[in-house]
Amino acid sequence: MNNLNEKLIQRCENSCELCASEQPVTAYAVSPENHDSIANEVAVCSTCLQQLEKPSNPLYWQCLAGSIWNTEPAVQALSYRILYGLKDEQWAGEIITGVEPDEAVINWALSVYAVAAEHTDSNGQKLQNGDTVVLTQQLNVKGASFNAPKGTIVRKIRLVPDNTEQVEGKINDETIVILTKYVRKS
Ligand SMILES: [Zn+2]
Repeated sequence: MNNLNEKLIQRCENSCELCASEQPVTAYAVSPENHDSIANEVAVCSTCLQQLEKPSNPLYWQCLAGSIWNTEPAVQALSYRILYGLKDEQWAGEIITGVEPDEAVINWALSVYAVAAEHTDSNGQKLQNGDTVVLTQQLNVKGASFNAPKGTIVRKIRLVPDNTEQVEGKINDETIVILTKYVRKS
């Protein structure tokens, strides 16, 4: 456990920065940063700490629907990171598609999901988070009520960390997974 320093206690108003319902007991450093500065830390309660260290109840993290809007980048990054890990759960997916944190916060959040290899488009060009791409063929979107024609522009794509053949992007306000072989960087 790391002591909560005065400034951090003031910042969080003595309330857990993730669930906002209990008193914080420790300062949690959001990796890869360390305890050098409270800008890297999140004040968490014992219940949140337990779920961080030994996740047992994904639904517990529904509380992050509030903390994701915190103005502290460390709190945003940690909330986004946890929710991203649960994004296959509909509620978690909905929360993260409803927010648009800074690129730096997203990169911080997703840094734990190691990128094994590079994402490349249909021409072998390297893709990065935030790129704009064009669909090189029509996409039939599973579960969605529309098809995306060839030539559709998708802005601000997100690399799927554990799969270099996939990126995510918004089409018609729905976030969908797109295969990198069907996109061209624009
Ligand atoms: Zn908490």
